[in-house]
Amino acid sequence: MKENKSKFNFGIWIFTFLILLVSIPTLIHFGYAKPAKVLGIITVFTSVIAIRRWMHLTKKKAKVFISLNDKYWLKENIDFYKDLSKSNQVIFEDRVALFITDIIVTEIGKEIPEKSTCLYVASSAVITFWGLPYWNYGRLSEVLVYPENFNDDNTLNDQGHVLGKVHQGGLMDTTMILSLPALIAGFKNFDDKQNVGIHEFAHLVDKADGEIDGVPLGMNLEDRRHWLQLCDEEMKAILKGKSDINVYAATNKGEFFAEIVTYFKENPSSLQKKHPELFQILDTYFNAEME
Ligand SMILES: [Zn+2]
Repeated sequence: MKENKSKFNFGIWIFTFLILLVSIPTLIHFGYAKPAKVLGIITVFTSVIAIRRWMHLTKKKAKVFISLNDKYWLKENIDFYKDLSKSNQVIFEDRVALFITDIIVTEIGKEIPEKSTCLYVASSAVITFWGLPYWNYGRLSEVLVYPENFNDDNTLNDQGHVLGKVHQGGLMDTTMILSLPALIAGFKNFDDKQNVGIHEFAHLVDKADGEIDGVPLGMNLEDRRHWLQLCDEEMKAILKGKSDINVYAATNKGEFFAEIVTYFKENPSSLQKKHPELFQILDTYFNAEME
């Protein structure tokens, strides 16, 4: 959002305004009253546009507050929140409010997004970044929520098979897309290791160093080497049908990271039991702040 603001160059506008302002008395002085009048009208008109644009760009979005109803909704629908201590629930609520204030959630087909949709999206973000020393979601500026699964080219028809997507580079670099039914389904059963919201935000954790490559920002060098080695071994096991990790994780290291983070967030005890080394690295990575 900050980048958009800088696109409107006030320096150039002020320079033009001064030229126009000096030109009017000069034209009058040399007897060109009509052109001076036209120039005057243009000056007033462009000034109004510039002031309105400036007011629009500097207007601060009002901070969203989490109401009692929202807290009730979170308890009913977000198991992760329900299981937190009272003091951590307050931190969770704050981060949800911060997310909804800072990031635009657009629900396709609706003028204003449903509050529940915003809470599902924000909860996905907060759960994924929980325990990290930062939670600013990188360059993400907007989450588009589609009413159903979509196609690879982000269009909608009854053939859609994509549940969620983050982009790397290009025009959509700051946009995430989520399918609403898939997003909701991810929270209905919170220990099945499947949650598209967490999966996509895990890609953003990975993307914080500039690349979705399966190795996140800030992982220490020793863990990084060990992580890549475990990744290779586990991806082979998945392809041989000898792993309980979702087969989609074998697509590439980026998808492996997103899937294993989802597993870690939804069912850490199972991950600890079945994949103690993967668990240990993720536990160190995500719980550095909270312990
Ligand atoms: Zn993915």
